[in-house]
This record gives sequence, structure tokens and C-alpha cells, in this order.
Amino acid sequence: TREWQLAARPVGWPKNDDFRFVERELPDLQPGEVRVRNTYISVDPYMRGRMNDVKSYIPPFQLDEAMTGGAVGEVVASRSDDLAVGDTVLHFDGWRTLAQGPAKNYRKVSKVPGLPESVFLHVLGMTGLTAYVGLLDIAEFKEGDTVFVSGAAGAVGSVVGQIARLKGAKRVIGSAGSQEKVDLLTGKYGFDAAFNYKDGDVREQLAQAAPEGIDVYFDNVGGDHLEAALKAFNNDGRAALCGMISVYNATEPQPAPRNLFETIKKGLTLRGFTVGGYYHRFDAFAAEVGEWLSKGDFVYDETVVDGIEQTRDAFLDMLRGANVGKMLVRVG
Ligand code: NDP
Repeated sequence: TREWQLAARPVGWPKNDDFRFVERELPDLQPGEVRVRNTYISVDPYMRGRMNDVKSYIPPFQLDEAMTGGAVGEVVASRSDDLAVGDTVLHFDGWRTLAQGPAKNYRKVSKVPGLPESVFLHVLGMTGLTAYVGLLDIAEFKEGDTVFVSGAAGAVGSVVGQIARLKGAKRVIGSAGSQEKVDLLTGKYGFDAAFNYKDGDVREQLAQAAPEGIDVYFDNVGGDHLEAALKAFNNDGRAALCGMISVYNATEPQPAPRNLFETIKKGLTLRGFTVGGYYHRFDAFAAEVGEWLSKGDFVYDETVVDGIEQTRDAFLDMLRGANVGKMLVRVG
């Protein structure tokens, strides 16, 4: 197999030589095991946190070992009765060409007609579920709410905005980091308003986009975006704190929102979550989003980078905003 290892723990923005690309012989397949050829590998913001040696909701990557993460692939050899050669499987042994281990670590998925198997890594997988539970269970979205989503043109954000629209939001507002993304939000994804946070003050741009305030904020970014949302909230507003990508490469703790007092004045609820605790909602999510997809009410984008050698760069480019929708590596 050819695989990416973590060579050093990054300080601040990861450097190229914090990673190592190696070739390694796989041991013979043992009874109960399968070998899987990866077709698509997911690179995700949370992986930056796993590069630090700190206790979190998911253990850190080990130095000099293959990194892990979501992937889909095809079974190419099997010594298990549960999986057969040719099966498409979803699993967590990303960052490599060939994965191997007990069959129980690989979950068979049925391809959806008309959709690539990569959708199990985003719109019908982890990031889609994050959007669904974050909006509905954590922020307790209800019809008629005005919703603001940051990181809106990414894998999670683009799903949040569309679910809000389809479930009867009064107004859906998104922020993203380029004019191209802003156009996509108000065009293809059907947001009512969008702005480029790099164009000026987030508070001012949000106030303009939401003249009657917001009821729900889905936070993928933190920092200035969270402050702006607190300012824009109506009474009894609810925020789902999903991610804070603006601070993932920070070397010093970042200041909290300077206007936290808004939470008291307005009776706001700020609630964080990680999707791992919400897989009991997977079937409801997949049924609902699957139906919207099949009816053409729901769209998605992928930014696909070709070649396992590109995985590190794809990850770093995603952190810099090079992706529209889900950033993926297609393994040649
Ligand atoms: P995205 O597809 O949204 O990709 C990351 C995007 O973040 C980039 O495209 C970039 O877009 C944006 N970005 C990067 N730096 C900044 C910055 N300083 N300020 C504002 N935007 C920035 O990734 P995902 O959809 O996978 O993840 C989105 C968020 O959700 C992340 O914070 C992630 O950690 C979180 N998450 C949380 C989960 C949970 O269980 N709580 C599960 C999955 C994801 P742009 O061009 O707009 O800057």
C-alpha cells in the first residue's frame, strides 16, 4: 500500500514535511479480514485537531503511522463470509491506497442509482448528518426561522442552507470566502442572501443581509462570525456550534466573543455538538435527504483532486478554502 503518515506535529499551519508518503508491504490476509482498494478519500477540517497531541473527542494521529479518516473503496480480497470481492464499503482507513483489516471495520453500502459512491463521504454521510442534526436537533430549527450559516459553500454548510430552505425557513443567509462561492449560494443552492466575509466587516455585512435579525446561527467558523451572529440574533435565538475553522491553526488561545452579554440580554442558547453522538439519527437523515436528492430538490458539489500523492495538498488546500462543496481525493 502507499500511505500518508504524520512525520511531525504541526505548529500553526502544517508544513509539507510534517507529512511523509511511504510505500509499505501489507501482511498476508488473516481469516475474517478483507483488503479494500480505496476509491475516494475524505480530507476534513477536524483532522487538523488530530495532528495535535491533545485529548479530544477523537484520539490524535500517531507519529510515523498511517493517518486515518473516512474513505470508500472496493473489496479486492476477502477471507470473511460477511464481505465479498466487489462489494463497495465505507470505512475509516483513509490516507492510503489499500486498506486491510477485520471485516467488521468495513461497512457495505448499496450504491444509489445515478450517484457516485463518494456521496457516502458527504451529502449522504458524515458531513450531511452533521448538517442535519446540527440544524434540526441542536439549533432546533423551526419553520419561519431566519437562518445564518457560515462556511456556507463547504460540505456541511451547503447542506445546512438547503435543509433550512426545504423545511420552510423565512430567510437563509450564508457567508463564504469568495465571490464565486457567494454566487453559488444565491444561485445553485437557493440561499436568499450571501456575502464574502473577506470583503469587509462581518457584523456589517450580516446586518445588511438580515435586516430583521436572525433566529438560528449554524457556526462553522467561530471568531468574528460568532460575534456577528450574537449581535444579529433576535430574542430566543439558537446557535449550533459545529466548528471553528478560523482558529484551527492558531498557536495561541483565541479570545471569546467580546459581546457574550448578548446571550443574556436576548435569552440565547449556544450549543456545541459532535456528530459522533447522533448516528441514531442516520436513517431519518438519509431517508429525507435521499428523497430530496432523487427529486432534484437538493444539489451538491465535490472538489475532486486526483491521485493519492495529492492527499496532503488537498487537505491543506481545503483549509485555505480551495474547495466548493466536499473536498475529496480520487485514488488513481
Ligand atoms: P468545508 O467543506 O466547509 O471546508 C472548509 C472551509 O472552511 C473552506 O472551504 C473555507 O471556505 C472555510 N474556511 C477556512 N478558513 C476559514 C476562516 N478563517 N474563516 C472562515 N472560513 C474559513 O469543511 P466541512 O464542511 O467538512 O466542515 C465545516 C466545519 O464543520 C468545520 O469547522 C468542521 O470542523 C466542522 N465539522 C464539525 C463536525 C462536528 O461533529 N461538530 C463534523 C464535521 C465538520 P471559504 O472559502 O468560505 O473560506
